[in-house]
Amino acid sequence: MPEIRPTTPRETTRLAPSPTGALHLGNARTFLVNWAIARRNSWRVILRIEDLDGPRVRPDAIRGCMETLQWLGIDWDEGPIVQSEDLAPHLDAVRRLADSGHAYPCELTRTQIEEAASAPHAPEPGGPGGESRFPSSLRPGGLGPRAFADTGSNWRFATPDVEVSFHDRFAGAQRFRPAQTIGDFVIWTRRAQPAYQLAVVVDDDRQGVTQVVRGDDLLDSAARQLLLYRALGLGPEPTHTHLPLVVGPDGRRLAKRHGDTRLDAYRAAGVGRERVVGLLASWSGIIPRPEPMSPEEFARGFELSTMPRDRVTFTEEDDRWLRGVSGLSGLPSPSRRG
Ligand code: GLU
Repeated sequence: MPEIRPTTPRETTRLAPSPTGALHLGNARTFLVNWAIARRNSWRVILRIEDLDGPRVRPDAIRGCMETLQWLGIDWDEGPIVQSEDLAPHLDAVRRLADSGHAYPCELTRTQIEEAASAPHAPEPGGPGGESRFPSSLRPGGLGPRAFADTGSNWRFATPDVEVSFHDRFAGAQRFRPAQTIGDFVIWTRRAQPAYQLAVVVDDDRQGVTQVVRGDDLLDSAARQLLLYRALGLGPEPTHTHLPLVVGPDGRRLAKRHGDTRLDAYRAAGVGRERVVGLLASWSGIIPRPEPMSPEEFARGFELSTMPRDRVTFTEEDDRWLRGVSGLSGLPSPSRRG
């Protein structure tokens, strides 16, 4: 008699840091929330190091990134899986897309694309996230099956002109039409590497990821990724949870210009992780104002339904509270929920 296996496999999520930028308070909050949801729901957690972007990442950057996550109290069940170490499945995917007439090589430069996108009768230039839109007029005529050859040019996905709708567990109902806003996007780069959109789909699928939790700067990418799942016949498609970003007092995404908010910098200054977790807890609807907290308490207290819907603003007062120099011991600043 064949063995009967459980029909509902365990939900799986991934923490997918890019080890190029150090972990700061903004992405730390996303990772801590992702981890807390996973632990509360007994999801499997994979650590995936996304090292395809930019120049080769040194092994000590990867170690440093893992160490900082562990310092914060985050653990995982599998990994690290280093993305660049096995590109065979990505090559196979781009081959299949080319074979089925969904992908083509493109030698056009950014300037040529931008010029075409701003021509008099071209539709709205610029997709979400400031990416330039690739106008359909630049797509080669008579798209059909072709043999993929990795010969130093970009390969683009022939984005079908359909609406993509999905339900985001935090952001709610979503509808996008990537063909209208983004057009044909790069899936394989001239540097002989898969581009982010393809890499994430191939990896999430082969690693059995069913729950994607990440910053809402990637909300519109989810639509492109779903189109790739469909063109490749992959699935089941993951459920998405996109969380608001942390911004600086100027309303822009937390970055170097807002001072050194790297976890490593606070750690080096002697700030304990209970303070960092406590600040992130006050940003995540667990407590009204920062107070020291353990990662376990964070996981116990976190509820997606009470997570603030707006972007969180990191203020100087937050920084003073972390360093323990705030006279008012961490009263929230009025602009916090900006
Ligand atoms: N590696 C990406 C980042 O650090 C995350 C990509 C994803 O979660 O799909 O922003």
